[in-house]
Amino acid sequence: MKLGVVGLPNVGKSTLFSAITEKAAECANYPFCTIEPNIGNVAVPDVRLDVLTKMYTAKKTTSAILEFVDIAGLVRGASNGEGLGNKFLSHIREVDAIVHVVRCFKDDNITHVEGGVDPERDIEIIELELILADLESVKKRLEKVEKYVRVGEKKYVAEAELLQKLDAVLSKGEPIRSLKLSAEENEILKTFFLLTSKPVIYCANISEQDIGKDNIYADQVNEIAKKQNAQCMVVCARTEAEIAGLDKEERQLFLDELGLKMSGLDIIIKAGYEVLGLISYLTAGEKEVRAWTIKRGTKAPQAAGKIHTDFERGFIRAEVVSYSDLIECGGFTQAKERGKVRSEGKDYVFCDGDVVLFRFNV
Ligand code: GDP
Repeated sequence: MKLGVVGLPNVGKSTLFSAITEKAAECANYPFCTIEPNIGNVAVPDVRLDVLTKMYTAKKTTSAILEFVDIAGLVRGASNGEGLGNKFLSHIREVDAIVHVVRCFKDDNITHVEGGVDPERDIEIIELELILADLESVKKRLEKVEKYVRVGEKKYVAEAELLQKLDAVLSKGEPIRSLKLSAEENEILKTFFLLTSKPVIYCANISEQDIGKDNIYADQVNEIAKKQNAQCMVVCARTEAEIAGLDKEERQLFLDELGLKMSGLDIIIKAGYEVLGLISYLTAGEKEVRAWTIKRGTKAPQAAGKIHTDFERGFIRAEVVSYSDLIECGGFTQAKERGKVRSEGKDYVFCDGDVVLFRFNV
């Protein structure tokens, strides 16, 4: 699962991304972590892991991971091939959700490509490029599918109807995510890889001086996000980059000084996890405490398959205790004694924070 960071030039994308890559360095011991300047694999913050690590005196703690991709090059006219144009658009097609950085800081020394600070206009420019790109894809596909329908291929009727709906909403200048679609329509939609169907997290980038204060620009971003049922995070990218460069203890001191519980970047990571419909189940033992990422709604055998395919194939049952019950009881054995450990079968749908022990046949 990937999140793509987009925004106009000079809004603070690279600054935010340098915070992401700085944080990504902490996960560098992951075998699957690629170290590339435009990709950052970051740990999803989860205090439950720290608590369990202490409880089990575990030797190792492994967090869930989320991948961020820096998608530079979006400018006015990108859908027409301006700037990186189509290259940009193909990169964004590969991500599962978008983090849209919006400039909310005034600084006369840093040129704004469109003149002055104006979040509404900036968001519109980016959105319009994505809408135009989608419109082109939809029209192309619709032309094809309508031909099939005309020659009597009934299985394309539903797709044609959906494409007409998408065409209408995009032609009005609205993103696809503003449409309410049925489950069947959403299944078809997934096959189109359209840009404006991806969920968005807005990231209002404020100046250092405005941390903890009201900011009219950030309020504007918030309003737009609300209308789109999207989330809006207010961060100061410069400060985030500074925080990410500190070690754990220094970081906490810095945050305390600013009166913040969590860094803005951590808040974005958490929001990204949520917007992608991801949850974590946990495994805990002396060797390792670990978070495993699954899609909300995943059943026990498939969840087990995240650890090893053998676990899925030979799944018998899972012993499950909720994190809060485990903590309240003070340990797995105590939780078992108090009847808090459930034995769940193949149809059990995992919840966020389930602490699990799998039983399986080899
Ligand atoms: P990008 O083109 O969107 O990647 O923007 P950059 O991250 O390169 O930022 C452009 C300029 O804005 C740089 O000089 C940054 O230092 C500055 N900048 C980024 N974030 C902030 C911020 O939160 N406050 C202030 N004052 N400047 C910022």
